[in-house]
Amino acid sequence: MEDLTTRSGQTTASFEGAAFVEDGSRVAGSLRVLEGTLEFKPNASDQHLIQMPLENLDISAGGNQNRLIYFKSPARSGISIYTTDRSILKEPALQKPHLQPAIKKIVGRHRRVKGGYWTLAAVTLGLVVGAWLGRGLLFKAAIDQIPPEAEVKLGELVEKNLTSSMSVVQDPVVNEGIDTMTKPLLEVAESPFPFKFQVVHHQDVNAFAIPGGSIFIHSALLQKADSAEEVAGVLAHEMAHVIHRHGTQLLVRRIGLYVLIGAMFGDTQGLIAALADQGGFLLSQKFSRDFERQADETGFNLLVKADIDPRGMLSFFRRIKEFQEEQMSETEQSAMAVMGTHPATDERIEFIQQKIDELPPDRKFQKIPLDIQKIQRRISLPE
Ligand SMILES: [Zn+2]
Repeated sequence: MEDLTTRSGQTTASFEGAAFVEDGSRVAGSLRVLEGTLEFKPNASDQHLIQMPLENLDISAGGNQNRLIYFKSPARSGISIYTTDRSILKEPALQKPHLQPAIKKIVGRHRRVKGGYWTLAAVTLGLVVGAWLGRGLLFKAAIDQIPPEAEVKLGELVEKNLTSSMSVVQDPVVNEGIDTMTKPLLEVAESPFPFKFQVVHHQDVNAFAIPGGSIFIHSALLQKADSAEEVAGVLAHEMAHVIHRHGTQLLVRRIGLYVLIGAMFGDTQGLIAALADQGGFLLSQKFSRDFERQADETGFNLLVKADIDPRGMLSFFRRIKEFQEEQMSETEQSAMAVMGTHPATDERIEFIQQKIDELPPDRKFQKIPLDIQKIQRRISLPE
């Protein structure tokens, strides 16, 4: 908070914050409480000032641990302004009888939540220690309490946030190809999550899953693949991340259980604010080695069950590793981008090789009826 001097010579405090405007986008700026009006001034000079009359002003707390103070007004429907600076509640202009019940409720609620926060901190600490001792089983047990439908809703929010900055491939030939590769996997996967696959234009060789079943495939991954079996191997691995709720576990660690639980019960503003602040973090976030191992194992089993040759998974990892080494000698930075969230390590390659060796020697698999080059030609076409 900083003091600004108004024309009349009085000082008016300014509070850092942001506004969600009619189209759902977030605008950063600062708040001031003037006599009769709450004023929001965007940081960007090309954005308009937002004013809300104090009469009918709706004040509420929300977001992570109710740290955000929201202001809404029927006079400016579709807009909400917020700040994390709680000292705004002490502004003289807000000390009006009609606003006091809401302010008292927030201050009281904050105290209660603080108590709850420490209980949660103790539980979390217990879970972390438990996870360390019990190989994540206790933590997983806590995640398992989240109903799948809530996780799907959460995933929709994350997806909306991600796809706004990505270019999704709409080509029916590409999407039919993805259907052909994933159909056998979908038939055998036992999952409460509805899987959905989308190809996005991206030059890094990668694929990633978000909570609730949405899986994104970078166009460069399809370009680098030699067969449909190789792509299916990566997709089975991603499906395994969804089935084991790895993304949700990561989100819980990253933005806190409160925000997620709030979002699952309809208070989505905190999550939207967190995602707006940390957009794309899922893309850059690495899963632990344990998660990767688990996704490799479950993915491998899915492939075998679906009658898809798991050697595709192995050959793709081997090629990615060669490619990584090749790139490493040129520039280390671009190498980091290759399968950034899924490094092809010797350990993983050995593990999959071992699983293949354990298969009966006469085990035969169905060939996926898809020419991968057909998809590759479509992707390389200019838009
Ligand atoms: Zn992975």
